[in-house]
Amino acid sequence: MKGAVIHGPRDVRFEERETPKITQPTDAVIRTVATCICGSDLWSYRGVNHIDTPTPFGHEYCGVVEEVGSAVKNVKPGQFVIGSFFASDNTCPHCQAGYQTSCVHRELVGGAQSPRLRVPLADGTLVPTPGDPPVELVPSLLALSDVMGTGWFAAEAADVKPGKTAVVVGDGAVGLLAVLSAKQMGADRIIAMSRHAARQKLAREFGATDIVAERGDDGIERIKDLTDGVGADCVLECVGTGDSMKQAIKSARPGGSVGFVGVPHDVELDFQDLFYTHVRLLGGPAPVRRYLPKLIDLVWTQKINPGKVFDLTLPLAEVAEGYRAMDERRAIKTLLRP
Ligand SMILES: [Zn+2]
Repeated sequence: MKGAVIHGPRDVRFEERETPKITQPTDAVIRTVATCICGSDLWSYRGVNHIDTPTPFGHEYCGVVEEVGSAVKNVKPGQFVIGSFFASDNTCPHCQAGYQTSCVHRELVGGAQSPRLRVPLADGTLVPTPGDPPVELVPSLLALSDVMGTGWFAAEAADVKPGKTAVVVGDGAVGLLAVLSAKQMGADRIIAMSRHAARQKLAREFGATDIVAERGDDGIERIKDLTDGVGADCVLECVGTGDSMKQAIKSARPGGSVGFVGVPHDVELDFQDLFYTHVRLLGGPAPVRRYLPKLIDLVWTQKINPGKVFDLTLPLAEVAEGYRAMDERRAIKTLLRP
């Protein structure tokens, strides 16, 4: 089998890999129908995260179950399934509380940019769709594997509710889907921070009512202007840098909430500053598994179309070009077809 392997900075190859097989009785092996490239993969691609050894790449997937281990009871061969980037048993106290990405048995599902994938803890991790999906729904179902659930968590963590004002920091796929999530949760006003015309357009399509192109102090100033000097009730941070986190916290009103889902890189918070903001913070790797049943239903009934974030589709063999396109911001998000 050939799949994507990262060797070092800007060096992703489509090359021969061992075909995954069942190694634990709780595993499933799926045939990947679609996979994609995540903004968070770019941290490794750009050399910010160090790669010691050639590593199978990718963590977003949907596909058809080919084989299950002897202990798997609910997932069956032939089912179309979606799972999160962290496998979870869905039974431990953290899973029961809805934080499956903190599962006591969590395991990263890596190497998803390939035609076959081993998924640990299959019963807890994988959620089947109501039937074989029509081909046009596949991109939206794939988006549920990470970016849509992550945007949804950002909105929930920021306590978006009907009538509230939400600010979304970040215009990558997660930021755009955070806009869609805030809209679904009834936010009255959604301010998307973006400097890119194509992304601004999609943000508006997903429900943004205002766009702020400024950043830093100017960006904070614009948010204050747009909210009569008060600040936003809810801020959805979808980048993970020190600047974006500062932007998020300072855009919130006293008593407001910040949901942060961008994987942090060099973020240092001044706790003295934070103390006087009266801002509530909740973030982390999104418990995508918690939202899968609801989000599958919203896609299946065509109430949401998160697959619109894919503006480039390539055969898996051209995965290296997919990374280049996202690195150079020629593409928002690349879908790969094995
Ligand atoms: Zn668990």
